[in-house]
Amino acid sequence: MPAEIHYPFAGVPANGEVREAAPGVFWVRMPLPFRLDHINLWLIEEDDGWTVIDTGIACEETKAAWERIVATHCAGKPLRRMIVTHFHPDHVGLAGWMADRFGAALWMPLAEWAFARVLGAGRSPAAEEGYGRFYRAAGFGPDRMELVASRSGNYATRITPIPFALRRIEDNEVIAIGGRNWQVIVGGGHSYEHASLYCAELGVLIAGDQVLPQISPNISVWPSEPEADPLRHFLASLERFRQLPEDTLVLPGHRRPFTGLHGRLGALATHHDERLARTWEACAEPRTGLDVLKVLFEQSLDDHQVFFAVGESLAHLHFLVGQGRMTRTCRGDGVCLFERWGDCNA
Ligand SMILES: [Zn+2]
Repeated sequence: MPAEIHYPFAGVPANGEVREAAPGVFWVRMPLPFRLDHINLWLIEEDDGWTVIDTGIACEETKAAWERIVATHCAGKPLRRMIVTHFHPDHVGLAGWMADRFGAALWMPLAEWAFARVLGAGRSPAAEEGYGRFYRAAGFGPDRMELVASRSGNYATRITPIPFALRRIEDNEVIAIGGRNWQVIVGGGHSYEHASLYCAELGVLIAGDQVLPQISPNISVWPSEPEADPLRHFLASLERFRQLPEDTLVLPGHRRPFTGLHGRLGALATHHDERLARTWEACAEPRTGLDVLKVLFEQSLDDHQVFFAVGESLAHLHFLVGQGRMTRTCRGDGVCLFERWGDCNA
């Protein structure tokens, strides 16, 4: 029976404060302008400088906090390297600024860097058209379409320009950080090639957003890949983390460091199993992604959250389509309907 989740640290570091979470691994917590209002970043000392894992979102408050940390904690040694877990703006947002300001090199999985460069190009007629088609298919009415158009360029406003040059990192690669070996574990679902870092010597996993305590990582279908099956990728990635020891200290991208990895992996899988069952139940009649959202999310959602929620609903629907337990039919008006296939005895 896996142990319960345990949080070994009391409280959290203040904005711009640095706290040692494991020998030589320093925890930095930065603000975010969302309901999930913070991100955890990690600093590791090298002989000739520092490596930072993830950078924070592009905003003046986060830049000022980094300036303070570099001036105080980093003791005159430069930020040499950024290892970025994935393309989301809270993780890669300040990479361009850190490269310019400190000369830090960007290490990141190729697909994550490439997709950040694509989205970083900002709004375009083709993107707006793709967003419109995708959310119409999901069942959005004309009342929401103005909001849809405005979102297609959102990403570029939350990042500094993604560095032109990359040092690619790959699954299973072993990287020396701070004189210790860290293994790259690439997983899908939350993003394309999300990189987590595991150090067997320390028994520490820098998990990024792939394994979070308390909250389930967002697993969504997005307009740029409208037929994606991200939940299949995510559930497969959980198997990789089951190979790690139960007493691993997990340093997540959000919330607090914890132990009890196997129990958490089990809870994440159960969470999706339950939602898949509810999704299947809801589609006794043909349903849109938006109809299923109303079944899966009972709480009220703000304009930002509704996009994540419809993406999550589609992720569950597409997983069931991939398993042959659901059909997907697109009508002449562009709206796509899902209907469960057969019955329990079929
Ligand atoms: Zn993320």
